[in-house]
Amino acid sequence: MNTPVPMMEIELNAWLLYSHLRTVFADTEVVSQGIDGTRHWTTYGEVDRRAHQLMHALDSLGLDRGVPVATLAWNGYRHLEAYIGIPCSERIMHTLNVRLSPEDLAFIIGHARDRAILFETDLLPVLEQVHALGGLVGVEHLVVLDATVPDTTLPGVVAYEDLIHDEPTTYPSRAIDELTPMGMCYTSGTTGRPKGAVYTHRSTYLHASAVASPAAMNIGPTDTIFPVVPMFHASAWGMVHAGAASGAKQVFLAGSATPAALASLLHDERVTVTAGVPTVWHGLADELASLGGRPPDLRAIICGGAQPPRVLIERYHRDFDIPVVQAWGMTESSPLASIAWPKAAYRDWDEGHLVDQVRTRAGLPLPGMNMRIQDDEGADVPWDGVSMGNLLIRGPWVINSYLYGEGADSFTEDGWFRTGDVAIGFPDGYFTIADRTKDLIKSGGEWISSVDMEAAIMSMPGVIEAAVIAIPDPRWDERPLACVVPASDFVISIEVVRDHLLANGFSKWQLPDRLELIDEVPRTSVGKYDKKVLRARFV
Ligand code: ADP
Repeated sequence: MNTPVPMMEIELNAWLLYSHLRTVFADTEVVSQGIDGTRHWTTYGEVDRRAHQLMHALDSLGLDRGVPVATLAWNGYRHLEAYIGIPCSERIMHTLNVRLSPEDLAFIIGHARDRAILFETDLLPVLEQVHALGGLVGVEHLVVLDATVPDTTLPGVVAYEDLIHDEPTTYPSRAIDELTPMGMCYTSGTTGRPKGAVYTHRSTYLHASAVASPAAMNIGPTDTIFPVVPMFHASAWGMVHAGAASGAKQVFLAGSATPAALASLLHDERVTVTAGVPTVWHGLADELASLGGRPPDLRAIICGGAQPPRVLIERYHRDFDIPVVQAWGMTESSPLASIAWPKAAYRDWDEGHLVDQVRTRAGLPLPGMNMRIQDDEGADVPWDGVSMGNLLIRGPWVINSYLYGEGADSFTEDGWFRTGDVAIGFPDGYFTIADRTKDLIKSGGEWISSVDMEAAIMSMPGVIEAAVIAIPDPRWDERPLACVVPASDFVISIEVVRDHLLANGFSKWQLPDRLELIDEVPRTSVGKYDKKVLRARFV
């Protein structure tokens, strides 16, 4: 007989995370609205059986243990099956961001050494472009998440339903070491290429437990959760893991979240908790107003990825009596690290006071997550509500390093991670994000590298210098503004700049909407671009 593992040493792995799906929560519903608007209903029990079939299928394909298997997919039940099947069969779940350009995807797939890709039918054209760029060289298997294979120039594509159909619905459980990789997600680099953030089984388990707890999203078997945040972006903020582990009914929406689709799912499925970037909630508010009511059971909108504007928070409170609860995190922190719930002592505060002191802040650190704010010399600054500094974090679901040890300068010698955000701490433990030292623009929840865009614009004939800054935008949170120094005799227009960027690997949504012609780019004392000056001039 094998000696049992001492109870307190049971591995915190994907098997433990998903252990109740087929038993305790077998009847709990999973609702997915597809890209064509049709709804599909299933249960955790069925999802689990199919995930086990997927595990057998991955074995049949001959994929080694420990290799990355990627998904290029929207939110939906098949993606959930991949969330379970890939790590439980001891492979690494690598979510590819469908909003990236084919050039970036080609780089990431090669860099991660993905051996198989599970992709959505409507994303086939993207993958064909990746293939045309030579980006699928190391990929041995292409699986379309569908019942049939569409017409395609890609070689050897198999249909997911055919792949799993004849496989057994039970897979023998595996004693996976909790410190081995479970998932992977790339994050945009300020300069150069995206970097891989790798999560272990243990970090994913601990993050999911924290996300489910009342200190964070407070989700369990009485809930219906609707992660509007994509499963391809930082594991839908851990909500999918947390919901599956704690038995919450889950609702998924494929494609872009239109206000009409959001409103009908929130109403029909009686969603209690939802989460997404501020951009999503702007559009929904008008839709709810025109429908004349709030979703009946919705008790919180978790809003992160960018600071939700005060008017948005106030509107949801005033018109719908729904709290917009700000959260902060990063791909590198799995991502959830803080959330802005009011403390018990603030119970009698009026809403105006709560908005000022709690809701417009990035929150309180989650249990297990430590934060400090430092000046440029590395000295801690006081949490006095005034002093500003670089935010550093440390905790069991912050990555140890980027893939292959890249980006080592983001980690301090004494074990902290430099977030690239500038924060102000308050004496009661809340903090707020005041600025960003990383040179990136965040539009609708996704990144645009200003440095890459500047380099591309400066490669245009007639451009001497270019600086790209983020300007606030009511709908997308931020949009890029291109400031260009033209050579005399050259006429540079926004159309020419946009066409040039499109031809150089930028996606349409990333293109600047505005151009300012300037005489020179202002510089700091050490010769760096002084974007503060440009922001003051143009924002
Ligand atoms: P996610 O979009 O899931 O938060 P990313 O890694 O794409 O993860 O982005 C993380 C960055 O987004 C943070 O470092 C910060 O710059 C910004 N961010 C996230 N949440 C907030 C927030 N509540 N307020 C301000 N900025 C935020």
